[in-house]
Amino acid sequence: MSGDCDFGLIGLAVMGENLALNVESRGYKVAVYNRTTDKVDALIEGRAAGKNFVGCHSIEEFVKSCARPRKLMMLVKAGPAVDAIIEQLTPYLEPGDIIIDGGNTHYADTERRTKEVEAKGFHFIGTGVSGGEEGALKGPSLMPGGSKDAWPMVKEMFQAISAKVGPNNDIPCCDWVGPRGAGHYVKMVHNGIEYGDMQLICEAYQLLKDVGGLTNDELYDVFDEWNKGELQSYLIEITRDIFSVKDGDTSDHLVDRILDVAGAKGTGKWMSQLALDLGVPSTLVTSAVFARGISAQKEARVRASSILPGPAEGDNPKLAAAVAELAGDRATFIEMVRQGLYASKIVSYAQGFVQLQAASQEHDWDLDYGQCALLWRGGCIIRAQFLDRIKEAFDDQPNLENLMLYPYFKDAMATAQPHFRAVVMAATQLGVPVPAFSTALAYYDSYRRDRLPANLLQAQRDYFGAHTYKRTDKDGVFHTEWLDLR
Ligand code: NAP
Repeated sequence: MSGDCDFGLIGLAVMGENLALNVESRGYKVAVYNRTTDKVDALIEGRAAGKNFVGCHSIEEFVKSCARPRKLMMLVKAGPAVDAIIEQLTPYLEPGDIIIDGGNTHYADTERRTKEVEAKGFHFIGTGVSGGEEGALKGPSLMPGGSKDAWPMVKEMFQAISAKVGPNNDIPCCDWVGPRGAGHYVKMVHNGIEYGDMQLICEAYQLLKDVGGLTNDELYDVFDEWNKGELQSYLIEITRDIFSVKDGDTSDHLVDRILDVAGAKGTGKWMSQLALDLGVPSTLVTSAVFARGISAQKEARVRASSILPGPAEGDNPKLAAAVAELAGDRATFIEMVRQGLYASKIVSYAQGFVQLQAASQEHDWDLDYGQCALLWRGGCIIRAQFLDRIKEAFDDQPNLENLMLYPYFKDAMATAQPHFRAVVMAATQLGVPVPAFSTALAYYDSYRRDRLPANLLQAQRDYFGAHTYKRTDKDGVFHTEWLDLR
């Protein structure tokens, strides 16, 4: 038995409820179910009242409410809950039905689940959904991957509910990403890039505040200005807005009352772990994850702050002069920070795409990198004008080895370089921590060097462990008894 709902959604927390409302608003009839069924009633009697919804109180009722081939999407806590729901759904499914997981699932789970669900005669889609609560309601960025045969059956609906970009606002930020876990991998890299963007903005904030002496009102103006240029993006925009919000209790700026301990849900850690597995240096995301880690060591930092000395201004006339100069010429300093942030951001995206390329090769996904940039162009947290340039770069050179090599970005790095170096040097001299800025610069300098000191490293490995080495002047693999040659 099947019903007449065009779409079914399981999981009525923040994301599920808003996505269900989005789908219905595009003219589709939607069945909804939630383990705790009170939430079904609350939605049907509340935000969904008078709309084209069917509220279900059992999995069986939910499946049978939907028209075949059924499109049943889960937006639940990633992990065992997804396997549990697949298990509950399967007895009621019929061949060709489609199970969709829209959660922040580890790509390896989606690789496995696609194979398991397909083996039972159904389709499986693992889709990245980005944009938070508002995106889910008004138009998220969607990154679907999995059973390719299912794509034509959901394409129209997915593209209808997704964010749109372009001069006529009609290019959907949703397209097929690739087989099995490809969509969830692309979403994970999106989140890792988001970690990097946020950490870089926080470092810029600390520099402007602690070195430049900018007030929150002045920071608002700087971010407002930055949002009109190369850095234009959702994250710069919301950061600007944060500087304008006062705390109701104290009338101070709310941002100053927030404890400096960052949380994390794990996608940045996954991207870092997978970068290590692939052997690709995604150092921006790892430094952003570790920056959150050190922020969480609040009590230890407070203890250390009164024990470990930093550079002492009074003892160092050069340093005192540097501080006075930076604080005195604010416009130049703000521009230095802006250029440093922009250059670091280019490095961060370059690393993200290098990791996507390595993963695509490893898993045979055949990813389209220009299209990935387009999917992130609207709806999601990292949406930014800058992604248009990335799309152009990969459309022009689909096998581009590293974004920094594309003329537009090569020139941007060259232009930003003097200020980028100066701001990292100033931070180092003044003892202001800029882990993401400095790791970006180190990557740039490592990547552009034809010879690194790994020759010595190979010598050390061969010396103590007979790990062998290759030579620059002849083929083969060599081992030396180092002490014999002294
Ligand atoms: P969430 O807090 O991650 O999950 C809560 C939902 O999962 C509830 O509907 C809950 O049902 C259900 N659930 C948990 N364990 C279950 C189980 N064993 N069986 C059945 N249902 C179970 O919700 P969310 O924040 O809306 O996120 C949903 C998914 O989207 C997550 O994977 C999340 O990572 C991802 N995501 C979230 C955001 C965001 O901004 N929040 C953005 C992008 C992606 P009960 O009500 O019965 O507990």
